[in-house]
Amino acid sequence: MDFQHYFATRASRMKASEIRELLKLLDRPGVISFAGGIPDASYFPAKQFGAAFQDALNSETSGTALQYSISEGFRPLRQWLAAEMGKIGVPCTEDNIMITSGSQQALDYLGKMLLSPGDTALVNWPTYLGALGAFNAYEPRYDKLSINGNRSAADFASDAEAAGGRVKFAYLSADFSNPTGETVDRRGRENLIDTAEELDCVIIEDAAYQSLRYDGEVIPPILALEIERKGSIEECRTIYCGSFSKTLSPGLRIGWVCAAEPLISQMVLLKQAGDLHVSTVNQMAMAQVAEAYFDEHVDTLHRVYSERRDAMLAALVEMMPEGVEWTKPEGGMFVWMTLPAHVDTTEVFKIAIETENVAFVPGHSFFADGSGRNTMRLSFSCADQETIREGIRRLSKVIKTVL
Ligand code: PMP
Repeated sequence: MDFQHYFATRASRMKASEIRELLKLLDRPGVISFAGGIPDASYFPAKQFGAAFQDALNSETSGTALQYSISEGFRPLRQWLAAEMGKIGVPCTEDNIMITSGSQQALDYLGKMLLSPGDTALVNWPTYLGALGAFNAYEPRYDKLSINGNRSAADFASDAEAAGGRVKFAYLSADFSNPTGETVDRRGRENLIDTAEELDCVIIEDAAYQSLRYDGEVIPPILALEIERKGSIEECRTIYCGSFSKTLSPGLRIGWVCAAEPLISQMVLLKQAGDLHVSTVNQMAMAQVAEAYFDEHVDTLHRVYSERRDAMLAALVEMMPEGVEWTKPEGGMFVWMTLPAHVDTTEVFKIAIETENVAFVPGHSFFADGSGRNTMRLSFSCADQETIREGIRRLSKVIKTVL
């Protein structure tokens, strides 16, 4: 049965990504993979979650834990999150927070809420692939977000109008972004708020990696900087999307949106229509583990991941040939590498996996226009230091053959 001609126009924008196909090749013995962007499972706080689920399911609370619950999310978890947001410069209450099924769901709902077909979304070149996947369904046009002001708001607005819509939002990860590992400095964040004001659009701040800073100066979230200007979250146009996926567990699928109340109320309607609420028992367990253990756990992750990052950066300096450049992230999970313009990293991927059993993600998938064919993303989160060194040795050997 061919369903194609039944599909709505939006389905034509939902394409299986080429990298999924490539990543299937990783399922072979001995591969050193820098491809996954996931946390190291050996550090999941399984014992703490085991106890928390048992507590949630005891005879007094099991009726709540297994029951339907409110779309906003489990109140004690939202209260804990509101207090945490306060610590990073975002004073707010639980009414400014809605729990989502990972931050991925927040991106989908925000696309649904904000984009009419032909509207413009400003994104980084490159940007998080999953954000493009979420937004694509709502048929936007993309334009290149320029943090340091080399294009004026008037230029963005007139191009968006010519394309039959308007600029609805700027989406970015300001800390240790996926895929580049780079951070937007304070000035860049301030500029972005200025541009959003001029364009009268919202800012979607994807904070998936924000807790994973290993060194360097802590920069307040964009939402915090906007609150500094305006005095209250209720006056702010920034929508902050947080997640427990890179810290406590991605499998429990818990993220949150923090924003002015009218935005949260609209999100709640989408949540009701979409899936009612995030699993009640998962939220209860998350609230317990986060409250007792979040800081300690994040300290462990900082130690482990920063050692791995250092191992990768040191191996790159030592082994990569001239003409290859890479970012030096202060946190997160990724290093972004740029090869000379004539090199196609999809071809490098095939050679690397076939001849050296080493993998990465070719970079062009992260560009809204498919450019960036000479780039690649390397993740350091899942391999120990020795494996990282060996993987970079293999990769540099392959790269030397294509330069
Ligand atoms: N944003 C970014 C930048 C990510 O890298 C990811 C996960 N790879 C997500 C959002 C979604 O994560 P989750 O839905 O698990 O919170």
